[in-house]
Amino acid sequence: MGQRKPIVAGNWKMNGSSELIKEIAAVSTQVSGEQRDVLIFPPAVLLSEAISAGLDCGTQTVSEFESGAYTGETQASLVKSLGANYTLVGHSERRSIYGESDEDVANKFAQAQQNGLTPILCIGETQAQREEGKTEEVVKQQLEAVIKKLGIASLANSVIAYEPVWAIGTGLTATPEQAQATHKYIRDLLSGYDQQVANALRILYGGSVNESNSELLFAQADIDGGLIGGASLKPESFKAICESAKG
Ligand code: PEP
Repeated sequence: MGQRKPIVAGNWKMNGSSELIKEIAAVSTQVSGEQRDVLIFPPAVLLSEAISAGLDCGTQTVSEFESGAYTGETQASLVKSLGANYTLVGHSERRSIYGESDEDVANKFAQAQQNGLTPILCIGETQAQREEGKTEEVVKQQLEAVIKKLGIASLANSVIAYEPVWAIGTGLTATPEQAQATHKYIRDLLSGYDQQVANALRILYGGSVNESNSELLFAQADIDGGLIGGASLKPESFKAICESAKG
């Protein structure tokens, strides 16, 4: 992993509780620091509590609009004012269940940055797209939607999470070689725009990461940590996964 400090990020999705916040805060105290950044993405209603417990936090999505008549949405400026530093954008569940397009995701990315949040841009192909040999085409399109709108410099203040959709919540993990190949493709693609930005950018892997597979995945040259769903709800597993990400 060399010059890039790894990140282990827990995406709680629509799960979690005050009790879990206390347990994960205790884990985070032990494992975050010089070696790695540890981030938690709890449901938005638990954000204040998680921040008060000392966790470095973000939301799982954010509105693409500044403020106004958008019932049910969460504005980036308020997320920032609570003390959060990050937001996920374009998670595959947002894309597939809530119909977020590449353009929506780019607008959310912009909104996050304009309000001082670091976006973690989630990209990845479906099973069908992989079988059709379209993995690279898909991640290129998802990345270029942001680059075309905001420029390559915008990626300097962001994180990428490569999450093959077929590996999310399924127990099917990309092999370290499969994941590394796509991460390298992403970094090489971005190098074509700006080598410095590409070298410094942290690219996380996500998709059924657990304490048994994290070490090999995180040891790959272009994998800078992980975005963890199910296993981030289990304090002991999450701790072990964090410990396997070494800067
Ligand atoms: C995710 O939700 O981003 C994720 C990777 O989930 P899981 O680890 O459960 O596959």
